[in-house]
Amino acid sequence: MQIRITENKQIARNPGSSSREWNKATRIHVFHEGETLIQNLIERARRPVSMYRSKVLEAHPDLEGHIRWSQTAGCSCGCSPGFIADRTVRQDGLPVDIYITLSADEPEEEVDMSYVLMALGEAA
Ligand SMILES: [Zn+2]
Repeated sequence: MQIRITENKQIARNPGSSSREWNKATRIHVFHEGETLIQNLIERARRPVSMYRSKVLEAHPDLEGHIRWSQTAGCSCGCSPGFIADRTVRQDGLPVDIYITLSADEPEEEVDMSYVLMALGEAA
């Protein structure tokens, strides 16, 4: 099984947010492509944190040694765990949070065309 990063977004905070929200340390949330909200809620307490960490650092090597996992990164109720950076990451001067999407699809198998051609030949 191969786990790929399919999306790596940095989303600027809403300028209308409170100064506390505006200045808090960057959160990094990891999503699974195709996961439903229900699956997400069921799985939220047992995420593969070390795999997530390596994927986040693959996308943002500069954060090595600067992130920690927190079950309450996104919300105090625990519904959106993630990593918290030890600083506020900025892009174009604006504070951002980071959203990584992973896909765990099996790599597509190579189709052996000789069988296809054989089948077509037999059909002709
Ligand atoms: Zn919540």
